[in-house]
Amino acid sequence: MQNNISTVLKNLGILDLNPAFSTGNNWGALTAAITIDSVSPVDGKKIARVQVATAEDYETVIKKASAAFLFWRNLPAPKRGDIIRQFAEALRKNKEDLGTLVSYEMGKSLQEGFGEVQEMIDICDFAVGLSRQLYGLTMHSERPSHRMYEQWHPLGIVGIISAFNFPVAVWSWNAALAWVCGNVCIWKPSEKTPLTAIACQHIIAAVFKANGVPEGVSNLITGDKEVGELMTNDTRVPLISATGSTRMGKAVAVAVGARLGKSLLELGGNNAIIISEHADLDMSLIGAVFGAVGTAGQRCTSTRRLIIHESVYDVFTAKLIKAYGQLRIGDPLDQHNHVGPLIDKAAVNAYLDSIEKCKAEGGKFVVEGGLLAGPQYASGCYVKPCIAAVKNDYQIVQHETFAPILYLIKYKTLDEAIALQNGVPQGLSAAIMTLNLREAEQFLSASGADCGIANVNIGTSGAEIGGAFGGEKETGGGRESGSDAWKAYMRRQTNTINYSNTLPLAQGIKFDL
Ligand code: NAD
Repeated sequence: MQNNISTVLKNLGILDLNPAFSTGNNWGALTAAITIDSVSPVDGKKIARVQVATAEDYETVIKKASAAFLFWRNLPAPKRGDIIRQFAEALRKNKEDLGTLVSYEMGKSLQEGFGEVQEMIDICDFAVGLSRQLYGLTMHSERPSHRMYEQWHPLGIVGIISAFNFPVAVWSWNAALAWVCGNVCIWKPSEKTPLTAIACQHIIAAVFKANGVPEGVSNLITGDKEVGELMTNDTRVPLISATGSTRMGKAVAVAVGARLGKSLLELGGNNAIIISEHADLDMSLIGAVFGAVGTAGQRCTSTRRLIIHESVYDVFTAKLIKAYGQLRIGDPLDQHNHVGPLIDKAAVNAYLDSIEKCKAEGGKFVVEGGLLAGPQYASGCYVKPCIAAVKNDYQIVQHETFAPILYLIKYKTLDEAIALQNGVPQGLSAAIMTLNLREAEQFLSASGADCGIANVNIGTSGAEIGGAFGGEKETGGGRESGSDAWKAYMRRQTNTINYSNTLPLAQGIKFDL
């Protein structure tokens, strides 16, 4: 694999890059004393050492970004869109290499690595169309010969903080929209997946350069949370879009809120599928198993809980046990495997700890978990997907463990099932499996699921570009990607123009001199 990866890094043009930051084609000086290692969870090998941006590096980036904004905001939006169209073309050319690097650095399956790059292409295509549709409204003024309308202007610098599990797609969801809206971006990727970020920056920098765009429209700073904090505390960054754990989101919200900045938060989920007595159980099985074990349970939309009607509980549990017995766990670059590794040993410890806590609270494991040993599992990051029968109010069930642990909960009535689904602090994604129209509509009604995403006869995991993505409660309330999510990256201005020869005041107020 190491040889293949050298070729991939070479193809992506990043073999010799070891920067702390990049403002475009200009990569930061190789001086930083602090470095982080990019280690693959696939085989435990170090892929590269990456420098950490210093406060001085950050100042260089902010200055470049501020200057670039003055140029970029005045480029007509459809012209900005055309450059994003070219970025999508560059991604199409690099899909195989970038997807492979995503898979190797993060540990998700090769198919999902390619899928992640496809999602980047899809958001770029969406953004290209959007660049001609940044619509404002017009209103009728109560005053004669007056015109009222609203228009949308860019914010300035958008700071993007991303998580390890979607190391490239989440950045592009934000960046593609922010750019067509006229903003410039500074990206602080996860410290666990810096190489894929460097590869993306390299691809976009070449596109901007070919179009004569000055440096600073796309910027990258690598490092850990302290580097992210430079942005969250900085009034020169009006919007912080942060994706990650609820713990991180609470810290970011406080820092950004304290300076009255805007934040767009995409945080943890605790997603459930209701399996009704009217469900197609075979279809439900695929949705449940993919949702629970896909990406080794490391998606914000992973299925953590199955809320199963008592009349189908035993038969569906038996199907699950059989399906889990057929799962192949191993190298995610081998397309025969269903489940790859967790991101690192800390994630393995969190998984083992959650299993112990679940048992201590009374959870009964119908499929046992544990760490896998053997030469093919040498990275120490491969674990067994497991299933436990639990109660929804166990502390551990209320908590998002980012690993393939699936909880089973029994219900009698749909009202009870919906209350269980909603009875957690998080509110990202929910689903019901049912062929009964009344049940489906109740689940989607105002008294149904309280999540940002609610599906019928589709699992909780995954989403497509086009719909707004995000969740309620401790998931943070942000919306990204589709629908009118672009509005978060712009400021709204209401304009009133008086073309009469008097100056009437609103509400009929008289003020004569
Ligand atoms: P994490 O919270 O550990 O880190 C995410 C990012 O935040 C990293 O870049 C990290 O360096 C940075 N960070 C952490 N604390 C910070 C602070 N105080 N100030 C500024 N930056 C800070 O998350 P992770 O382990 O990388 O990712 C897993 C989590 O992300 C899960 O909870 C998952 O549900 C969530 N997630 C949510 C979505 C969504 O759209 N809702 C998408 C992907 C992942």
